[in-house]
Amino acid sequence: MHKIAVIGTGYVGLVGGAGLADFGNAVVCVDQVAEKIERLRNGEIPFYEPGLSEVVERNVREGRLSFTTDLAAAVRECDVVFIAVGTPEGEGGAVDLSQVDGAARDIGRHMNGYRLIVQKSTVPVGTARRIRKIIEENMTGDHDFEVVSNPEFLREGSAVEDFMRPDRVVVGADSERAKETMRSIYRPLYLTRTSIVETTPETAELVKYASNAFLATKISFINEIANLCEYVGADVQTVAYTMGLDKRIGPKFLHAGAGYGGSCFPKDTKALVRIAESAGTDAKVVAATVEVNRLQKERMLAKTIEAAGGDVSGKRIGVLGLSFKPNTDDMRYAASIVLIEGLLERGASVQAFDPVAMENARSIMPAVDYLGDPYEVARGVEVLVFMTEWNEFRRLDIDRLKELMARAVVVDCRNIYRPEDFLECGFEYFGVGRGRP
Ligand code: NAD
Repeated sequence: MHKIAVIGTGYVGLVGGAGLADFGNAVVCVDQVAEKIERLRNGEIPFYEPGLSEVVERNVREGRLSFTTDLAAAVRECDVVFIAVGTPEGEGGAVDLSQVDGAARDIGRHMNGYRLIVQKSTVPVGTARRIRKIIEENMTGDHDFEVVSNPEFLREGSAVEDFMRPDRVVVGADSERAKETMRSIYRPLYLTRTSIVETTPETAELVKYASNAFLATKISFINEIANLCEYVGADVQTVAYTMGLDKRIGPKFLHAGAGYGGSCFPKDTKALVRIAESAGTDAKVVAATVEVNRLQKERMLAKTIEAAGGDVSGKRIGVLGLSFKPNTDDMRYAASIVLIEGLLERGASVQAFDPVAMENARSIMPAVDYLGDPYEVARGVEVLVFMTEWNEFRRLDIDRLKELMARAVVVDCRNIYRPEDFLECGFEYFGVGRGRP
């Protein structure tokens, strides 16, 4: 059993910390935000993530998981320290490494013997070496330590399942000793024969960006095809389904929609472009993916304006779904923000509902009227826009929506419905890439 400190209790740190405790390690999760730690100690999860509270509760009850703001004590008492702090977008798309640097400085100052530092945040190539240097500069004694890169691939909304049963684990390490420790930390995954790739820190760091950029590229690709479908009268759903039957392509991440958002793809794609630039080369495909995605979000706004008759000024628009995808309350880079801010700027008023993201959305977009359910949102609106494909939006009573709305017009930015579901009830329907079925 290892004693592990996890620095940062966001989506990755908290899910990872609870997961590592479930694997049999003794884990202390550290955050600098005292309120977060207080809530966790009271059994509350500070964000919405299905299944997480059960894993946290079980491991706290069984004495393997605890929470603290005292980073110094955690570093002194543990033999392994995971870094899972935020790496937001910085200037010009570069990665803001200030949280990682801060964590490395604190680790250096407080370590009092050999430590394995495991870098879990998504960071540019070379960061494991950078952490090593910062720790060396801040160490008070002469302690041996190693830095391992162990990028995380979990998805918000299914984070617990993804952490417990990952497609692969990547360990970028220089020494056999560090690899051996990582094997024992992830022992249950070795026993279930999960693919574990051991490589160098640089390769591990790049694997994460390459994976996210590839998935983002699939999304931008199908969105570009969807736009073409609208010009030539083809149906993107059938195009995507049929493409996906080819095993070399596969059906996943080929859903045309409002463009990708969230805390990872937008910043990681831009970061990869910057990483390539600073390495003296180009990432042209990824740069195009970023641009197509930006345009796709604007396209949803243009579609909504068109659906409202060319002008939204003075009109009331309803929006269903605010989070960047279902099953999360994360609003970072959500497509709904581009849509709603665009509508408000043009003089529309907006009323909206999301099952879990309204509190976060309110702090970003206070001018929106947040209502209690989809039917309240439909009342009196000129256009109803589906922005997030929550399951509960898939089975709405379309006749009831029609009675409530000022005009029977929907914009389905996620292709949740078949066009005929609405057309047959006398609606005007705007989907994404739904030329002709
Ligand atoms: P987050 O912003 O939700 O959480 C980061 C946490 O770290 C915050 O609670 C912050 O208070 C804390 N923190 C920062 N500096 C600290 C310090 N010095 N001491 C203690 N606490 C500190 O971030 P996240 O979404 O969990 O992402 C973390 C990293 O993992 C990022 O690099 C991200 O790109 C990567 N990642 C995220 C996901 C995801 O789905 N969210 C998936 C894979 C990888």
